[in-house]
Amino acid sequence: MPTEQMMQKYIGRFAPSPTGPLHMGSLVAAMASYLDAKAHDGLWLLRMEDLDFDRNVKGADQHIINSLYRCGMIWDGDIHWQSQRQHLYEAALQVLGDKRYPCACSRKEIADSRLRLGETASQIYPGICRHGLTAGKIARAWRLRVPDQIYRFKDRLAGMQEQNLATEVGDFVLKRADGFWAYQLAVVVDDAAQGITHVVRGADLIDSTARQIYLQELLGSPTPSYLHVPVVTNADGEKLSKQTGALAFDRGDNDLLHEALMPAAQFLRLNLSLTFDDIPRFWSTAIQAWKVKMASLESP
Ligand code: GLU
Repeated sequence: MPTEQMMQKYIGRFAPSPTGPLHMGSLVAAMASYLDAKAHDGLWLLRMEDLDFDRNVKGADQHIINSLYRCGMIWDGDIHWQSQRQHLYEAALQVLGDKRYPCACSRKEIADSRLRLGETASQIYPGICRHGLTAGKIARAWRLRVPDQIYRFKDRLAGMQEQNLATEVGDFVLKRADGFWAYQLAVVVDDAAQGITHVVRGADLIDSTARQIYLQELLGSPTPSYLHVPVVTNADGEKLSKQTGALAFDRGDNDLLHEALMPAAQFLRLNLSLTFDDIPRFWSTAIQAWKVKMASLESP
């Protein structure tokens, strides 16, 4: 008899932040998540992570949608915009009860406290508000109390990973001082609400995964399987991003097959020996190549 796990359908997603058009780095993440979903006959959902209203760029969401469409990466179901789902993050914050606490610290107070503790290099919150707000202080953000405990997970490529949340991360922000929901909370709430079974994304986020697993534990949500693919860097070794001046791979009239899809597949080290002249053939070949690659690479 098939077990529940065997019957569970693969649901993956691509979750771009609309802070600009997609560049080669985000195309690689989109492609890897799309190929993995297709290789598993799964669903591939699209979620706009548009919670940072200061960084959102007007029209970038539509540009991303058009680029994916032009590349033949068609998502399943409706697109979700995180900005329309804020009631879910509020509800999750309530569920966290006294695991969460209000924090009144400004960046300067945190930096000064680190200086006093001789921990200037540390990024870890020094715990100033952990045991209550100092009289007269006004709550600015919400943080999550983390345990002095090691969280482990197996990345499908990188293998076993571990992180001690207290000593390596510290109490992290759930709702920011500017009133915006933090990525860590929103991503966990949405991955659970959308039934995501497989997360495939850039390796720059591998460091966030233990935090997300801890939140899943507190919210009673299942932990998806994780696969982090290498990030594309520029000549200076910096991750491609809008901040490092990455250009849109879709300039409206360029040859997406040869100028974007083939280079992205090459970056993912897919062995595509054929030459293509159309996008549908590219995808059918790339899906097979992904299956072969993953079968040889996936850590047992
Ligand atoms: N929104 C994040 C980004 O664009 C990705 C989040 C995720 O895949 O978990 O980098």
